Amino acid sequence: MDKDIIIHTPLMWYSKAETVKLMEELSGLKYLKFTHTCYEGKSPACGKCPACIIRLRGFYEAGIEDPIEYEYKPSLDEIEEKIFDMKLEQFDIELKLIEKKYREDSYE
Ligand SMILES: [Zn+2]
Repeated sequence: MDKDIIIHTPLMWYSKAETVKLMEELSGLKYLKFTHTCYEGKSPACGKCPACIIRLRGFYEAGIEDPIEYEYKPSLDEIEEKIFDMKLEQFDIELKLIEKKYREDSYE
C-alpha cells in the first residue's frame, strides 16, 4: 500500500454505559433509537442474545432507558445472570485452550 491508513476507534475503551453517558453529554441520545445490536437481526430486538444483554446492561448501568423496542425485556437480575453465564462460557473456552496448549507442549 502506498498510503497510510488511520483507523479511529474513539469508543474502543469505553464501556457500553460510558458510551451511553457520552451520547447523553453530547445530546445524542435521540440517535440511539436508530442503532441496532441484536445478533438475531430481529426488530424489535430479541432481548435474549449476548448483544442485546450487553447493550441492555449498559443502559441500566448508565441509568438511561434504552430507546429501542425489545421482544422481551429482561430484568436487571436476569441480565446479570446471563452475563455471569457468558463469562462462565468464556472461562470454559479459555480453559480448554490452555489444556490444549499444555497437551501440545507436553509432546514436544
Ligand atoms: Zn438480540
